[in-house]
Amino acid sequence: MSSFQDHNFNGQKVLVRVDFNVPLNDKLEVTDDNRIRAAIPTIKKIISDGGKLILMSHLGRPKGGPEDKFSLKHIIPTLAGLLGNDTTVLFANDCAGEQALLTANMMRNGEVLLLENLRFYKEEEKGDAAFAEKLARLGDVWVNDAFGTAHRAHASTAVIAQYFPKQNRMFGLLMEAEVSSAEKVMHQSEKPFVAIIGGAKVSDKILIIENLLERATDIIIGGGMAYTFMKAEGGEIGTSLCEEERLETALAILKKAEEKGVNIHLPSDSVIANKFAADAETSMAPSNNITPGWMGLDIGANACSQFANVIMHSKTILWNGPMGVFEMHNFQHGTRCIAEAVAAATQKGAFSLVGGGDSVSAVNQFGFADKVSYVSTGGGAMLEYFEGKTLPGIAAVKD
Ligand code: AMP
Repeated sequence: MSSFQDHNFNGQKVLVRVDFNVPLNDKLEVTDDNRIRAAIPTIKKIISDGGKLILMSHLGRPKGGPEDKFSLKHIIPTLAGLLGNDTTVLFANDCAGEQALLTANMMRNGEVLLLENLRFYKEEEKGDAAFAEKLARLGDVWVNDAFGTAHRAHASTAVIAQYFPKQNRMFGLLMEAEVSSAEKVMHQSEKPFVAIIGGAKVSDKILIIENLLERATDIIIGGGMAYTFMKAEGGEIGTSLCEEERLETALAILKKAEEKGVNIHLPSDSVIANKFAADAETSMAPSNNITPGWMGLDIGANACSQFANVIMHSKTILWNGPMGVFEMHNFQHGTRCIAEAVAAATQKGAFSLVGGGDSVSAVNQFGFADKVSYVSTGGGAMLEYFEGKTLPGIAAVKD
């Protein structure tokens, strides 16, 4: 693996896998350009070196053939806007055919070629080697900058690596930042290390909790998943979210934590509501003694200070999942408190990594994104990394 920063791309055809899987509205306009922005530093370095930049990505979930609503041509205005007038952005309406090859071979230094959606070929997700080889013909160097798909062994994210010698495959700047933040938390965490895990379901987070039991000092459990733990310990949780089939798992996690000396923190109190709605009647209750017919939709004031105290004493912080139904105004206080505490601890010198779709939206929504050490762009990939899995997109570059 080579260092992207030290490589001079002048005159080279640089094939970069990016994650431009952005949301489009009815008029097929980009409504959130964060993923495109995240790739700009990598793109600019290659252009300013005088490289010929060939961008490949997927967009949405096409059924395996061309579909206009999933065409990457819709993102050209956004990409061109972010790159400015000096950069020419070309488009190939097929990613693996002869037109792409011809255009790539005719490009001038500093130009950008965006290829059509990789997932218009079923071979992409199948990790088909012949398809990967076709893509590989387009570039002298392969750069993986798509952390969002690093957990997939697809043709363009992993299989393609074999067609480039080791010195010609590398991480882009986004991928490098993602991987080094994740490695810092997973392998070089300064203690105390707190993991804050929230969200709806225990079942989605079992593997990550189990892996963190080997590494963390403290694990804070909030969100809907906390009530399965409360019930498993004999609490009354009313109509709160509960996974009956996970009660045993919850008890096993608590037991294992005790054996390992990891402190598990559950919310002592909750904001409760008489229905799952923004205009519900609300009240406060101990999380293990919720009024029948009512449900816990956010952590309560005591839980906020209890959790904030743990966070403030930590040196490494990993946060995945909201503390409550933060999409509704009445139930966002807990998630906001945690965001504030993570920001304050970061300011005191802790390293904080926020990863996973909903906690990332919460941190962005509340304006804390630049007050934490790192906000990951890859939800599923980050989760799998912290479950302890090897991500094919990382292994393909490193091994
Ligand atoms: P996840 O995708 O598993 O991280 O879950 C995120 C979702 O969990 C968000 O949409 C939240 O609204 C939801 N959530 C958080 N706390 C609760 C709760 N107490 N009851 C129901 N849903 C919740």
